[in-house]
Amino acid sequence: MDRIFSGIQPTGKLHLGNYFGAIQNWVRLQEEYNSVLYSIVDLHALTIPREPAVLRQSVLDTTATLLACGINPEKCLLFQQSQVPEHAELGWILGCLTSMPRIQSFPQWKVKNASQNSEGTVGLFTYPVLQAADILLYKSTHVPVGEDQVLHLELARDIAQHFNKKYGNFFPVPKAILSTTKKIKSLRDPTAKMSKSDPQKLGTLNITDSPEEIVLKFRKAVTDFTSEVTYDPDSRPGVSNLVTIHAAVTGLSIKEVVHQCIGLDTAHYKGIVAEAVIQKFAPIGNEIKRLQEDKSHLEKVLQAGAEKAKELASLVYQEIRRLVGFQ
Ligand code: ATP
Ligand code: MG
Repeated sequence: MDRIFSGIQPTGKLHLGNYFGAIQNWVRLQEEYNSVLYSIVDLHALTIPREPAVLRQSVLDTTATLLACGINPEKCLLFQQSQVPEHAELGWILGCLTSMPRIQSFPQWKVKNASQNSEGTVGLFTYPVLQAADILLYKSTHVPVGEDQVLHLELARDIAQHFNKKYGNFFPVPKAILSTTKKIKSLRDPTAKMSKSDPQKLGTLNITDSPEEIVLKFRKAVTDFTSEVTYDPDSRPGVSNLVTIHAAVTGLSIKEVVHQCIGLDTAHYKGIVAEAVIQKFAPIGNEIKRLQEDKSHLEKVLQAGAEKAKELASLVYQEIRRLVGFQ
């Protein structure tokens, strides 16, 4: 049976990269598949220091945002990772099947660690293994992710194969479902991806940004000294990122967008893209605000999701316990 699993970290406000790289696909897939799980992965959020109250609030805000974007708990399981303890337990088992050099080279480790100005924690180092556990715990077959997660999914595939070789064919080897939108880059540094955890606030377009913030962020977006609007991510990453965002928001192809923009200069173009973003996200932003006011509804949604996720997880995990020799 096909099963979809994906996760998002409660690490701050959701941005346009999350929307076009992940959530938009999630909404479509809940209509197309019968068994779909989406998790707010709070264990992962701890890989970087967080205030407990901020983390708790972020779980609820992420829930409100996902619901406002169209995630429907009648059509999928939406739950909080830490409410299903088997994620961490399976993470341990899979960690014992993963070699150090295999994860040492992961860019995510290097990038996030560098920004922490510390030696990094064991959790930050091994979280790709926990991600593999998140996916495999439900014997998932497909994982919708943004381009930045492709390497991590490769690891989950390798671990599944390794487990199957050692203990007998058990896990399906999960496949990535990539969104049509390529990675959205930071507006301040178009060589880096847009991220919730980016300390440069002007680089990240949040789904809940006000029209004034959106206009300001586009105005300050890094481009180059050529005024024409063209798409060439290698030599002109800044303006190409604007074109990517414009295409994602309007649903047009990159080619169509570039064709429409003949004769425009980048300063004028920034205003056009800002306006398209405001139009698309204003209704979603209003819905998020409405949902945030009803905390008990959000908690109920997560509670119901966790109960169903626990049922599925414990069935699979019981078999894993037997396979590895715990019982
Ligand atoms: P953090 O900085 O805390 O890691 P993040 O912005 O990278 O946050 P995640 O919660 O790690 O967000 O990722 C959630 C989903 O969003 C993943 O499927 C990921 O591939 C996708 N995603 C994140 N950033 C981008 C981006 N810039 N472009 C496209 N997809 C993205
Ligand atoms: Mg991330």
